[in-house]
Amino acid sequence: MKPLQLDGSAGGGQILRTALSLSMITGQPFRITNIRGKRSRPGLMRQHLTCVKAACEISGGIADGAEIGSTELVFRAGKVRAGSYQFAIGTAGSTGLLFQTLLPALWHADGPSTLRLEGGTHNPLAPPFDFLERVFLPTLQKAGIETSISLESAGFAPAGGGTIIATIHPCTKLTPLDLSARPESTGSRIRVLTRHLPLSIAGRMLDAALEVLPCRDATVESCEPGPGAGVCCLVEGQFGDLRELTSTFGEQGVGAEKLGHRAAKLMQDFLGSGAPVGRCLADQLLLPMALAGDGRIVTMSPDAHVPTNIAVIEKFLPVKFHVSDGERGTKVIEVTRD
Ligand code: ATP
Repeated sequence: MKPLQLDGSAGGGQILRTALSLSMITGQPFRITNIRGKRSRPGLMRQHLTCVKAACEISGGIADGAEIGSTELVFRAGKVRAGSYQFAIGTAGSTGLLFQTLLPALWHADGPSTLRLEGGTHNPLAPPFDFLERVFLPTLQKAGIETSISLESAGFAPAGGGTIIATIHPCTKLTPLDLSARPESTGSRIRVLTRHLPLSIAGRMLDAALEVLPCRDATVESCEPGPGAGVCCLVEGQFGDLRELTSTFGEQGVGAEKLGHRAAKLMQDFLGSGAPVGRCLADQLLLPMALAGDGRIVTMSPDAHVPTNIAVIEKFLPVKFHVSDGERGTKVIEVTRD
């Protein structure tokens, strides 16, 4: 089969990850050029390369150009096989993004699979473990997905070294999602996770978050000893059977107060939007929605991940997305079979 042509400069690693997932499911090979073309360090980084290598392993696939820094790749999948797999990123690259790449393919495997993934579990610009466990997977459960995930140890940037374990059951027919309205708020909580840092830092972070978003369920939790120091602020909102989780991560030179404030402010923005689906969850639901062939979500004004991800998905699958304006600045994203 002739490879599909993709231009990677239209976005980041997500173009590659979505293409890998869909190529494994459909058997359609692809060639991607200009990988992460507009990023300050273009090409495959360790996290992306591990996604490619893991995709080859679970699908018996082959990849040309699978090297660090490579800006061009051709990928041909074989048949996805259920199994017990272990992949180590080797840096603090996100285990969550690796998990999300392999997950849809393993829904199409011939039996349940387990994944043991090593790398970052709580790092910036990626879904932290808690988001996957508390928001992403419970939402997918509504689509009929049975997947569980556990945290063996936390991995913060820059050291990484964390581990997540996932059990994935096959599911080839997803139920369409309809997330059009947000149920009433039924609670919120704020957690600050910390390791090998003075507890006072975590306390200041928590206080700053509470100033923006007062809530009774607020804790500082020390992670078990591990390879690196780190701290993050996780703000969770519960709305009936829906959740959202916003987060910030310790950064050199950025005050604890600022990070606590920012995490709570992100939740406050979500609350103010009235949308049932948060900005990050929206782009992560596009692929499952497309696999279901039908569905509708209402989200906050989306970022660039949504149009780029839609463009890749529409190349692989016979579906059409429609994005329109909803109430109070929200966006309605619908998908139908083409
Ligand atoms: P690049 O380095 O090229 O930007 P990348 O591979 O790190 O690429 P993106 O292409 O930007 O990543 O994709 C990041 C993904 O992580 C998106 O799906 C986004 O929704 C998700 N994400 C980022 N931050 C969070 C967060 N705090 N909570 C949940 N999901 C997040």
